[in-house]
Amino acid sequence: MLDHTLSDNELTAWDRDHFFHPSTHMAQHARGEMPNRIVTGGEGVYIVDRAGKRSLDAFAGLYCVNVGYGRKKITDAIAEQAAALPYYHAYVGHGSEPSIRLAKMIIDRAPAGMSRVFFGLSGSDANETNIKLVWYVNNVLGRPEKKKVISRWRGYHGSGLMSGSLTGLAAFHTLFDLPKPPILHTEAPYFFRRPDRSQDEEQFSQYCADKLEGMILSEGPDTIAAFIGEPVLGTGGIVPPPKGYWDRIQAVLAKYDILLIADEVITGFGRLGSMFGSDHYGMKPDLITIAKGLTSAYAPLSGVIVSEKVWRILERGSDEFGAIGHGWTYSSHPLCAAAGVANLEVVDEMDLVANARDVGAYFRKGLADAVGGHRHVGEVRGEGLLAAVEFVRDRDDRAFFDASEKVGPRVVARLLETGVIGRAMPQGDILGFAPPLCLTREEADIVVEATQKAVRDVLG
Ligand code: PLP
Repeated sequence: MLDHTLSDNELTAWDRDHFFHPSTHMAQHARGEMPNRIVTGGEGVYIVDRAGKRSLDAFAGLYCVNVGYGRKKITDAIAEQAAALPYYHAYVGHGSEPSIRLAKMIIDRAPAGMSRVFFGLSGSDANETNIKLVWYVNNVLGRPEKKKVISRWRGYHGSGLMSGSLTGLAAFHTLFDLPKPPILHTEAPYFFRRPDRSQDEEQFSQYCADKLEGMILSEGPDTIAAFIGEPVLGTGGIVPPPKGYWDRIQAVLAKYDILLIADEVITGFGRLGSMFGSDHYGMKPDLITIAKGLTSAYAPLSGVIVSEKVWRILERGSDEFGAIGHGWTYSSHPLCAAAGVANLEVVDEMDLVANARDVGAYFRKGLADAVGGHRHVGEVRGEGLLAAVEFVRDRDDRAFFDASEKVGPRVVARLLETGVIGRAMPQGDILGFAPPLCLTREEADIVVEATQKAVRDVLG
């Protein structure tokens, strides 16, 4: 329960003295040199903090509160499940009704050819599961050398040991001795920053596919097990793929018998205006990572959706070697599964996938009209309800600002002062948006106006 007898000062002192925050400058936080914010409530696309300040959360937490805040159907479902059965494990064939129902609901919505769902708690642990499954599969198939996994620079796949290795962002590797073998990174499909400006989208896609094939050939195709990618690069800068990218990448993977893992932690369940990013871009993954939008973060839940092709090999493995030695105490936790069932029902009832498509297009056009012509805006891009504004020192040479100028964080701070939450993406000066999928056109207008003002205030 909230203890309203605590003063703001007391709570802040405890926060600074005892709470080790993720992705935070530890020393500045502890010394009180950066603001803290204690969030107490939320309704629709708005959150409110202890000081009573209301902000339009145009990043849906961390691109996860897809249905928006305060959906009673979901909180009631969690409460009812807690009263009936707060927990039972899923080992050795056990389950609870919501976990079974949720698995069925996911497969009903998933791209063709998907068969089973393994549940975890975070996107990171789901990607750890993916890597283990890829290794297991190749061991069952008698190919113990085929174990390397290729990811992309600027990909984000979590911050565990292997999932953090898959991530292709320096900030998540520095001082952690990551990435670990056998993880490799290839070219990011980042058209705006392509090395050869004369390339069109299709040519750049071919360039990325050639780079991938070159890596496979130099490493040895018999050593490469899988390729992982987000349909749209997320934390690496909110970068949709150039035209033809996924077709060309998949052609290379098929040639060398390499599995495709689609990391749909952000794109799954509607964010792009389609239920899955794989369907949006014609990807035919062997494994799909899900989290965030699965429960809209009302409870922590992730999953690996396993294709029929992979499932058959897993079955063969357990026939030959016994029960699979992989699982978490909280795999398919009943409270989280109940949240997931109710959440997917809300997504359907509110027609949020269509809303993401319609309001997403409206919002991105509004952003482009408002700031696209600014001399320090290099690109406005996105897909569905994912959008980014990339700032550059100079539009012609596309040079980055010096990192010490903190252009992205300053725009985000100014935006917050006007009551809108965006995110300074961690690499480059990129302002990211991923609002709840229930965003209305009027709310989109508020975000666009605030962005225009913040950009003008910071960059002139
Ligand atoms: N994969 C993608 C594409 C993500 O965006 C994230 C988190 O942002 C993760 C994996 C990791 O998820 P988590 O933070 O739940 O471990």
